[in-house]
Amino acid sequence: MNPASPTPSLSGNTLRRYEHLYINGEWVKPVDGEMIESIDPATGKPWAVVAMGGAKDIDRAVEAARAAFNGPWRRTPGHERAALLRRFAELVRAAIPELAHLESRDNGALVSDMRASLNAQVNYYHWFASLADKSQGTTIPIDDSVHAFTTRPPVGVVGMIIPWNGPTMITCMKLGPALAAGCTVVIKPAEQTPVTALELARIAHEAGFPPGVINVVPGFGQAGAGARLVAHPDVNKVSFTGEGRTAMQMLRDGADTMKRFTFELGGKAPHILFADADFDNAINAATSAAWRLTGQSCALGSRVLVERPIYDRAIEAFRARAKMVRIGMPEDETARMGPQAHEEQLRKTLSYIDIAHRDGAELVTGGKRIETPGFSEGYFVEPTVFANANNQMRVAREEIFGPVAALIPFDGEEEAIAIANDTTYGLTAGLWTRDVGRAHRVSNRIEAGTVWVNTYLYMHASTPYGGFKASGWGRENGIAALDPYLETRTTIISTTGQFPNRYAS
Ligand code: NAP
Repeated sequence: MNPASPTPSLSGNTLRRYEHLYINGEWVKPVDGEMIESIDPATGKPWAVVAMGGAKDIDRAVEAARAAFNGPWRRTPGHERAALLRRFAELVRAAIPELAHLESRDNGALVSDMRASLNAQVNYYHWFASLADKSQGTTIPIDDSVHAFTTRPPVGVVGMIIPWNGPTMITCMKLGPALAAGCTVVIKPAEQTPVTALELARIAHEAGFPPGVINVVPGFGQAGAGARLVAHPDVNKVSFTGEGRTAMQMLRDGADTMKRFTFELGGKAPHILFADADFDNAINAATSAAWRLTGQSCALGSRVLVERPIYDRAIEAFRARAKMVRIGMPEDETARMGPQAHEEQLRKTLSYIDIAHRDGAELVTGGKRIETPGFSEGYFVEPTVFANANNQMRVAREEIFGPVAALIPFDGEEEAIAIANDTTYGLTAGLWTRDVGRAHRVSNRIEAGTVWVNTYLYMHASTPYGGFKASGWGRENGIAALDPYLETRTTIISTTGQFPNRYAS
């Protein structure tokens, strides 16, 4: 069986069934897998059942990816890869309403936020397409006896392991550059959010990518498909976004095959509000960065550092804003915050709220699961603010991934910088000041891969993204986005062909 689409289009309360994996350009049943339910976090009820692949399915997918890499894809010139990516981008554009709806069912993201994200993803795919025929080596001047130059061949077969919080966006930031570079890929989405990866496979099929270039195998992480992808001897590289603990396990599992890795890991971003800042705009950004995506993004600013003269005012502003957050079902176009993506994440957030209480932080507002009729079965939690927090508390040190902000007072630039950098993470940071000198001084000393000044969460395909310290290895996006998917080959050609006999007497 090789249906054109994996999705018999069912609606209403009928479960959508995704019974196939996408391997070698075909929809195939898993060899050793099982079907699991995907739960709609807004209702707590299953909405789809999806085939989970196992190790044998990964083996099939890697074999297909290798054959495509050694075969047609290797001979496909950059401008043709670019054209395919552009066609893919436009098909994604046409599918935005459906993709937005499906991702929202899988992980509870607001449909309005998903539409915005998918629109951005179309632009990202076009950006990566524009790089596909521009990867160039260099010529290296030495002397007349040799001609030395470098070329940039693709790394080979790439495994992509995706988390649940932003499945299509995180896939986009890996898939676009990998295909532009000439790699072939095997994608393993998270077990909680497998659906849109399969839909992207359907779109890639329609766009006309050769069989084996893109393979999608939903499956479990440590217990199955994910671990096999990391350990597989014929996978050249793994690009992973997720938790630091998982990355450490991957390093162990990938050691025997000398796996190359790109890691995009967690964050605990400091968002620094100096007393000279434009207060209203700073609060707009800080409250948005605290609760957007229900707190489930590594880039959000959950550690809000506030200079003492405006500390009390900031607490009141956060309290007032929390009351304004319109919590709603993901399809509600007026909603500004939806549910947590799954039950375990809801429990985690509530447990951190307890921990913050016990550690002595003062609850300003929120702190509870939302139990009102219509919401009680979903995984909704109130936007939550703690004041009088300090940077040693767990609420300020550990990634919660819920809508919980900890407001920490500070005195002066030096203390702000010290607190901001007193973390194992280093993904993003924000700062608000009207003093341009301070903007330079402070941003230059923040240990984070991205520092936003007088804005927050501004992201673009052209700006490199990734972490210092425990927040990751390597960068995605930007003009160098292809680098992680390219090798460097140095070729040295003698202009004479003369080679002396070193053993002649
Ligand atoms: P996770 O538990 O690390 O899981 C991420 C993915 O890895 C899932 O597909 C998971 O499979 C798989 N996996 C788990 N263990 C594995 C193993 N041993 N071998 C191979 N694959 C394995 O992370 P998460 O909870 O889904 O995602 C949240 C984390 O992602 C947060 O820490 C967040 O900060 C981080 N994140 C970082 C960025 C960034 O750009 N820096 C962006 C977004 C998210 P299952 O399907 O079985 O879970």
